[in-house]
Parts: sequence; C-alpha cells; structure tokens
Amino acid sequence: MPIQIRPSRFRDAGLRPIAEKVLAGRRLGVEDGLALYGTHDILSLGELAAFANERLNGDRVFFSANQHINPTNVCILRNTCVFCSFARMPKEEGAYTRSLEEVYHEAEQARHGPTREFHIVGGLHPKLRLSYYTDMLEGLKERFPHIHIKALTAVEIAHLARIEKISEREVLVRLRDAGLTSMPGGGAEVFSTAVRATIAERKLTGDEWIRVHRTAHELGIPTNCTMLYGHVETAADRIEHLTMLRALQDETGGFLTYIPLAYHTENNELAEDLGRVGSATTGYEDLKNIAIGRLFLDNIPHIKTHWPMVTPFMSQVVLDFGCDDVEGTVVYERIYHEAGAKTQMHMPYGGLVQLIRGAGKRPVERDSLYRPVRESFDDLPVLTTGPGASLPVVHAA
Ligand code: SF4
Repeated sequence: MPIQIRPSRFRDAGLRPIAEKVLAGRRLGVEDGLALYGTHDILSLGELAAFANERLNGDRVFFSANQHINPTNVCILRNTCVFCSFARMPKEEGAYTRSLEEVYHEAEQARHGPTREFHIVGGLHPKLRLSYYTDMLEGLKERFPHIHIKALTAVEIAHLARIEKISEREVLVRLRDAGLTSMPGGGAEVFSTAVRATIAERKLTGDEWIRVHRTAHELGIPTNCTMLYGHVETAADRIEHLTMLRALQDETGGFLTYIPLAYHTENNELAEDLGRVGSATTGYEDLKNIAIGRLFLDNIPHIKTHWPMVTPFMSQVVLDFGCDDVEGTVVYERIYHEAGAKTQMHMPYGGLVQLIRGAGKRPVERDSLYRPVRESFDDLPVLTTGPGASLPVVHAA
C-alpha cells in the first residue's frame, strides 16, 4: 500500500510546512534543510523521505555485484588528510603499490562469480603515471569485457592532470578511451572551506571537485557523489554541500546516486585531536543523513547506503528512511576497515537479496548505469521474519 503522509500528526510541528512542500513536489530550501537536521522527530523525517523515495523508485531497492580494487595506498596527502586511515607514505610500514599483474590477479576473483563492476580507487601516488591506469583499464577490459569499470575519484583525476601537465578533461578522455564507464563520488568530504582547512587542507577544493565532475558529465561519464559526515562539520556545512551537489545536478544530470559516508575514528589523527577514538557516528545521525539526502537532493535518482560503514543492520533499516540503493558485494573493503569498520569485507550476493527482502522491498540487481539486470531471485532462499530471521553478514569478531 502506498505511503500516506499526515503532516498534522507529526510530533515536530516545524516539519509540517516542509511536508506540505514534499507532498506538492516542491523543492526544499536551505532553511528547510536546517530544520530537518535540527528535528528530533526522526520517524516523521523517515516517513517523509520514504514517501519521496517511493514516488521515485516504488518499492525497488537496487544493488550491484561489484568488486573493489585499491591499487595503492601510497598518497602524497597522507599527512594532511587527517581523517584518513588508509593512506601511507611511500616507505611507511603497510605501504603497498600493486603491479598490474597483481591487480589482474586480484581481479580474477570475478572470473567465476556474479561481478559486473570493478570499483577502483586509491591514494595519490607520487610516481604512478596516467599510463599505469590506462594500461590497467585496458588490461581489465581485455580479460573481463563484460565488467564495467568505475574508477578514480575527482581527487585522483586532478592529481594525474598535475603530474602529466595536461587538463583534467584530457585525463578523463584517455581513461574513457581505455574503458572507464563511470566515476565514484569520493573525495568530496564536506565542501566548506573552513572544514577542509581542518580535515583536508591540501586536497582539491569543493569548487575543484565540482569542476572535475562537471567535466566528466560533459564527456558522458556519469558519476556518484558523496558527503563525509560526523566529524567537525555543522548542519549548515552539510546543507551548503548538498546545495552545491544539487546545483550541479540541475546543470548536467550526471549524478547517478548520492552516498552519505559515516566518518570512522580509528587510526587517524583527527579522531585523536577531537578525543573521539572509538566513537563513530550514531545510528540517529546515519538515519538522518540518508533521509535528508533523499529529501534535499530531489534531482538525484538514487540514495545509497554503504553497509561496510554503517553495518548491514543499519543499511536494512534505512530502506524505510528514503534509501533505495545498497552498496554491493564489494569483495575487498580496505578503506573503512583501516578506520575501524567492524563489518566483514564482503557481502555474499544472496545476502544482499536477503537484506532487501527482509525489509519488505523488491531487490533489483543493476549494472553500473542503474539499468536493471535481474529482478527475479526465486532460486534464492526467502528470508523468514520473526525469531530466527537473520542476515548472513554480521559484525566480524
Ligand atoms: S583521503 Fe584520499 S587523498 Fe586524502 S590521504 Fe587519504 S587517500 Fe590520500
């Protein structure tokens, strides 16, 4: 039965005029966004976001069979992105850089499985040239012609342009010609200049991040977008960030999905400075960021939950808070596990189906461009409800 909204019954009366706008399909403004972040009426917020999502996606929830590949964790910004737990200096313990053969070897995991997408991101290596990445993409396409490649954040694109002394557009063209289908949304963090000065002072600015994505969209390369929440940013910073994403989407229509990313506090300097070691974002914040993303970004078709960060349990709950897109099988998740994520590194294909069905939604396997590739899973076991119902992936020990 379609979701029915009764704003007059909302506990927070301040949400009622916002609900009227959502019901009428009108765009929310900055003040509305701030009111949503300020509310403690989390259930009304969730109901409203679920309504907005249902209007766009019905009861379908998308997922992909993907494999993450991180070719190197060596990064020249290792000492200035203080929230990052993944990067290493070239000679630091734990630093690694894979040869192309090692990348292909890891990709072999996809040979006999359902994988349809490689998701490739890494550090800003001082010596790896653009040819390393174009050769990698060509080699992967040769070995796995049916698998889409989603690769390199805006920050990596800008870094390669600097190293090669060519434009970001030229880097993107060469990557596209080598087999790039789409780009991930990482590196956005929070666009506010003040926040970036605190957490990532030498990284691409917000405007530069937007510029790289605009260029990608102009070249026919769709991208994702993200926001890292739960560190030093304010609600106003978050809304400013979402406003910039929404404005680019109005201009290009090139964003496929928005992914709010929960800051993790292990093995990074920022958490030590803030006295936050061991204290991650709360479930309340996780729910709010999904719901507000759905309500504010009225022009981005999908809102994704990243289960390795917020747990499969929270990812299941957010399906009733405006979320219609679940991170995929992943296979090797390294970035957030370095930062203390306690989830497993891999979600079985059947586990994703089960997670979505368990929330009463209709699973749809999609490709990188969100085209449905499978909608019937009758051969997979159905999740029971009530005592004994379980997800196959739980917290690792
Ligand atoms: S967040 Fe990205 S750019 Fe910054 S140090 Fe980590 S890997 Fe490097």
